[in-house]
Amino acid sequence: MKTTKDIKCSFCGRDKNEAFVLIAGITGHICDQCIQQAQHILNDELSVKSKTSIQHQLSLHKPYEIKKFLDQYVIGQEEAKKVISVAVYNHYKRISQKFKKKEDVEIEKSNIILVGETGTGKTLLARTIARILNVPFCIADATVLTEAGYVGEDVESILVRLLQVADYDVASAERGIVYIDEIDKIARKGDNPSITRDVSGEGVQQALLKLLEGSVVNVPPQGGRKHPEQKMIQINTQNILFICGGAFDGIEKKIASRLKAQTIGYTASHQNASFEKENMLKHISPADLKSFGLIPELIGRLPVVSHLLPLDREALLAILTEPRNALLKQYEKLFEMEGIKISFDKPVLEFIVDKAIEFKLGARGLRSICEAIMLDAMFELPSDKTIKDFSVTLAYAHEKLNKSGMTKLKVA
Ligand code: ADP
Repeated sequence: MKTTKDIKCSFCGRDKNEAFVLIAGITGHICDQCIQQAQHILNDELSVKSKTSIQHQLSLHKPYEIKKFLDQYVIGQEEAKKVISVAVYNHYKRISQKFKKKEDVEIEKSNIILVGETGTGKTLLARTIARILNVPFCIADATVLTEAGYVGEDVESILVRLLQVADYDVASAERGIVYIDEIDKIARKGDNPSITRDVSGEGVQQALLKLLEGSVVNVPPQGGRKHPEQKMIQINTQNILFICGGAFDGIEKKIASRLKAQTIGYTASHQNASFEKENMLKHISPADLKSFGLIPELIGRLPVVSHLLPLDREALLAILTEPRNALLKQYEKLFEMEGIKISFDKPVLEFIVDKAIEFKLGARGLRSICEAIMLDAMFELPSDKTIKDFSVTLAYAHEKLNKSGMTKLKVA
């Protein structure tokens, strides 16, 4: 029989008395020091692997190619696509620089803020970027966040979601992309410091600072409140790219007044005439975000500002048919799986777009209108083995939409 003295580390030969811990395997043992050494080797290997994978991605996706990829999914919004492509490219350059010499110039993080009406493609842009980069991506809603300790979610809950998407692989989560929606809803409520704390506005902005700038954050792995007894996972947010989006309702007025103030004394009246309302967003600057109620520290951590323009009739028509996963292509696929070839008459597309504009639903409305028109067909056709071709005509679309009651949505 083996005595305690005979038990040795199978790697270095230390016996049980010399080792702090000796872990038994099926046929051998390993001591604490060998485990530590093995861990070092593993870390080195992992860092080489992640370095080559980032460099591989960089060599694959130059800004021009990133934009080309975005073009397949997002219609219009040229400016925003260009800005995002460059920002993301620089972000990954920055990460790969981490492996270079200490004396190198340090590239700062390029978190992004997107301003544009709801349904113009902000989330779609962020989601598509995550797809090309093949990194974990999650969407967080700023409206449910509150300052720590108040009813609502702590800002750390954002990272819990990212961690879940990354299957609890911390290293992969630490290179992910987070889209924070409705960032405009956490604007400061007013300029006067009031007696009540602004826990869902300025308080959240303050709490977001440390996440955005890059720090090590303790995250409760299952989400929820932090309990002293709960084991925390540490996540370094330094290489997480944050994209914030918001409609910033009424910001045009702030831009207009800033532009007017700048042009006083010059050819002011001539300039004002060219500042039409729809073009206002093109002139957005960090100063306008500040007058809207974002605190300067937060704006400073979102250095890339871009805008998305409202979608016009032409853009909506293109959204129906052109993107790789365009709505109509999805219906075609659904029916194809039943062995049915479906087609849409051209006037039907115009009818859908006109209704979306009439209901003031933008691109978001296209889907609900299509669903209303297609519901009966999707219900009946799979059981009808005789139909192999199905053409959606204008009369059919009219009839089904009226039947659905959606026309009641009409905005006065
Ligand atoms: P936002 O985040 O700006 O409120 P989303 O990105 O969630 O809007 O857009 C809602 C839906 O509308 C998307 O899922 C997409 O189908 C469609 N959509 C919006 N804008 C575009 C666009 N520019 N190109 C293609 N589809 C779009």
